Amino acid sequence: MSRNATDLQVSARTRRRPHQRLYLPSFVLAAVTAWFVWEGVTTLQRYGELGSALAGARAELAGPLVLVFVAVALGCERLWPAERRRLLAKGHLQDALYLALFVGVMIPLITLLGVASAHLLVAHVAWLEAPWTKSWPRWLLVGVTLVAMDGCNWLTHWADHRYAALWRVHAIHHSQEEVSILTTFRTHPLVHTASFVAAAVPVIALMGARPIAPVLITVYLCLGALPHANVPWTFGPLGKVVVSPAYHRIHHRADGRNDINLAIVLPIWDILARRAVFPERGATPCRTGLAGRPIPVEQDAVPLRLPLLLLVQLAEPFAPAGTTSRETYDQTRWGAPARG
Ligand SMILES: [Zn+2]
Ligand SMILES: [Zn+2]
Repeated sequence: MSRNATDLQVSARTRRRPHQRLYLPSFVLAAVTAWFVWEGVTTLQRYGELGSALAGARAELAGPLVLVFVAVALGCERLWPAERRRLLAKGHLQDALYLALFVGVMIPLITLLGVASAHLLVAHVAWLEAPWTKSWPRWLLVGVTLVAMDGCNWLTHWADHRYAALWRVHAIHHSQEEVSILTTFRTHPLVHTASFVAAAVPVIALMGARPIAPVLITVYLCLGALPHANVPWTFGPLGKVVVSPAYHRIHHRADGRNDINLAIVLPIWDILARRAVFPERGATPCRTGLAGRPIPVEQDAVPLRLPLLLLVQLAEPFAPAGTTSRETYDQTRWGAPARG
C-alpha cells in the first residue's frame, strides 16, 4: 500500500466521531455487569456478609486445592508437554498476570455476579424454584445441578462464539498461542456476566436455597481448567465422557473453525449439537491462537511490556470492529505511515 493511501486511511480514522471510535455493545455489557455488581454488593451488605462472602470465595477458588492442582498441572506440562517450550515463555508469564487478575478482581466479581443472579432470579422469577426436587436424595440433586450448570456453560460458550459482541470479550481467551494450564485464567472480566446469570438458573431451579458444597465448585473449576494443560492427553475412551486437554486444544486451534468442542467438562453437549471433534491419539498438536492476530499478543515480534499489554488486551473489546485497538496500538508503536 502506498504511503499516501495509508495516510488517507489514518486521517479518515482520526476524523471519526468519538462514538465511532468505540464499540458500544461492550459498553452496554460493562453497564449491565456494573449493575449486577451493585446488586451483589447491596444484597450482601443487607445481610452483613460482604466481607465474609468475598473472603470465603477467595479461600475456595484460590485456596490450597486450586494452587496445588495448578502446580501439579505445571509439573505435568514439564514432564509430558504437547508442545515443548520454556517454563518462562512469554505466554506463560502473561497468563500468570491473568492469574493475578483472577485472584484480585475476577473472584470478587464472579462472587458478586453469582449472588446478584440468584437474588434477582428468586425476587423476580419465583416460579423457577421448583418444589419437585425436595424429595430427591442430596447426591442426586447436586449431581443433576452440576450437569445442568455445565449445560448452561456450554450454551453461553456457544453464544460467545455466535454473537459478535460476546466474541469480542471471549477472543482474548483464544488469543493465547502458548496454551497452558494458566490460560484458564486468561479471560476478560466481562465474559463472566452472561455465564453466571445462565448458570444461576439451574441452581435456583433445582437447589432453591440449599447451597452446593464449596469443594464441589472447586472440583468443577479444576475439571474445567485441566483441558488447558499443555499435555497431549486424550484420556482414551474416558475422553468421550470428560473433556481432555487434546479435545480442548482443538477448540483453541488457530486454523479452521473454533465453534466446535465448546464443552467445559462434559463433551455430551458437543455430541448432541454435532460439534464434537475427538482428537486422534498421537496426532501432532495443532497450532493455537487467533489467525492474523487481531488482538495484540505477547508473541508479537515487538511486544509491549506485559503489564501494559494486559491493559491493551482488556481494552480491546471497546475498540470498534474493523478498526481494532491493534491498529491504534501499531500507529503509536511504529507510526502508521512508516508501515506503508
Ligand atoms: Zn471458546
Ligand atoms: Zn479454553
